[in-house]
Amino acid sequence: MLIIASANGAVGIEAAMQVLKNGGSAIDAVEAGIRLVEADPAERSVGYNGYPNILGQLELDASIMDGGKLNSGAVAIMRGFPYAISVARQVMDRKLPHVMLAGEGAERFAREIGAEQWASMLSDEVKAIWRKRLIDNSALLDVGDMDEDSPLLDAVTMATDPERVAGTVNFIAIDGKGDICSGVSTSGWAWKYPGRVGDSPIIGAGNYADNRYGACACTGMGEMAIRACTAYGLVSYLRAGLPIQVAGQKAMRDLRDLGGDFIGGMNLIALDRAGNHVGMTTRAGSTYIYQHPDMDQHGEIERRLVEIPARWAGEARQ
Ligand code: ASP
Repeated sequence: MLIIASANGAVGIEAAMQVLKNGGSAIDAVEAGIRLVEADPAERSVGYNGYPNILGQLELDASIMDGGKLNSGAVAIMRGFPYAISVARQVMDRKLPHVMLAGEGAERFAREIGAEQWASMLSDEVKAIWRKRLIDNSALLDVGDMDEDSPLLDAVTMATDPERVAGTVNFIAIDGKGDICSGVSTSGWAWKYPGRVGDSPIIGAGNYADNRYGACACTGMGEMAIRACTAYGLVSYLRAGLPIQVAGQKAMRDLRDLGGDFIGGMNLIALDRAGNHVGMTTRAGSTYIYQHPDMDQHGEIERRLVEIPARWAGEARQ
C-alpha cells in the first residue's frame, strides 16, 4: 500500500491512507483524499473557493482512473458542485457508456445522481481578488460592464499567468490488492477563458493509470500535457521497461519539443507497480508527498528538476 500526492494533498493524504488500511480500494482512497482538498477553502486551485474564470465563474475539471480495468470517469467545466472527483467517479461507476461529461451535461448528471451542490462556490475574498486582478491587468476597466458579448481575448492573455495562479491536486494510490488508481481535480488556470478545459480531466494528458506498469498525474500548464500526452507518455516509457526515474525524465523532456508562443511550467508525480515513485518539476524547490501504511504522517520529497525553457506571448520568461 502506498499513496503519493501533490504537496497540496497534505490535507487529505492521511485520511486516504486510513481508507487503505481499513481495507478500502485505491479508488476509495483517491476519492477520499481529493474530496478533503476540494472542500478546503484555503486551497485556491481545487474545488470550492478555487480561482474562477475571467468572468468570475468557478469551472471545475476532474478525472479518476482505475488501473485494473483501465476504466475512467471525468467531468469538465462543471459549475456548482464542489466534489468534482466524486462526480467523475460516478461517471466511471454508473452504467453510462461515457467517459467524460462537460458543462451543463456534467451538471445535469451531478444533479441526477444527487451530488452535493453548493449555492455559492466562492468566498467574498476570492471574488475580491478576481475583481482586482482583472481591473489591474486587463483592458476591461469596469468588470461590471462585461456582458455575454464582451471581448475577452485580450483580457485573458493579460490576466492569466500560469506561473502564479495555477494549481491542481494529484493523488495516486496502490491498495492492498495491488490495484492502482490515479485522480486529479482542479479549478484550472485562474482567469481562464470560459469553457477552457485543461489536462486534468483528459485521460492520457493529466492522468493515467495501468496496474501492469504504473501511473502518472500532472499539474502545471495543462495545454502542454494535452499536446504531449504526458501522463500516458510516462506510463508508456514504463511499459517499455524503463525505470521510473528515466521514464519521468523522458516524459518531461518530451515537452521541450513543443513549439508555439505559450510554454509554462509542468510538474508530475508517478509510481511504478512495485511502488517506486518520483516527482518531476520545472520549478526548483517544488515537492510532493507520500505515505506508507507504517507512517503516521506523510513524508515530503523534493521533486527532480527538469528544465523546460518558458516563454509567454513569444517572449522568454524567467
Ligand atoms: N494543470 C492545470 C490546468 O491546466 C493547472 C495546474 O495544475 O496548474 O488546468
